[in-house]
Amino acid sequence: MKIIMLGAPGAGKGTQAKMIAEKYSVPHISTGDIFRANIKNGTELGMEAKKYMDQGLLVPDELTVKILLDRVAKDDCKNGYVLDGFPRTIPQAEVLDKALTELGDKIDYAVNVEVPDENIINRMGGRRACLACGATYHIAHIPPKTEGICDVCGKELVLRDDDKPETVKNRLNVYHEQTQPLIDFYSAKGVLQSVDGTVDMKDVFASIVAILG
Ligand SMILES: [Zn+2]
Repeated sequence: MKIIMLGAPGAGKGTQAKMIAEKYSVPHISTGDIFRANIKNGTELGMEAKKYMDQGLLVPDELTVKILLDRVAKDDCKNGYVLDGFPRTIPQAEVLDKALTELGDKIDYAVNVEVPDENIINRMGGRRACLACGATYHIAHIPPKTEGICDVCGKELVLRDDDKPETVKNRLNVYHEQTQPLIDFYSAKGVLQSVDGTVDMKDVFASIVAILG
């Protein structure tokens, strides 16, 4: 089964992707990871991607899809894979779709983890981090033993800039502009499956399993 994960940043799709990969014994593929692997191993595709990255340019969608297809052609993808973080835009989805069609292949499910913006802003706003040791907490879900103090090293906990409402809102705006059109794209292909991402992550996973079988 070939799966694409959709959902806003902070909706928990990465966690669900990992759980799917484990349960169905398929690789969890993130484009960030495969870029790093190709560059580290000095592959031809990796070197080509590096040329763009070294100049601070975006890697063209065609090249990203080439690297992705190279990855999914490996033996461990025989029974499928979960793509996390790609495609992010309609042009990327179109390049991927065309390439898969040429191989006589297709995406089976686009799993959309739905969480309203306010909900994501609240979730992220509750995160606390220890800048000294890297431990992370959540005021509602994983509170430290003493409010505002790291359990591990006793230093003060902070709300990271990345988790501040303004930053989160900006990321969500980019998501709504670029990524949300993918929901219509995969819906038109008849592979879209939306799940309620506001519930406990175990329950989100249960509804995904009910869909995938
Ligand atoms: Zn700490």
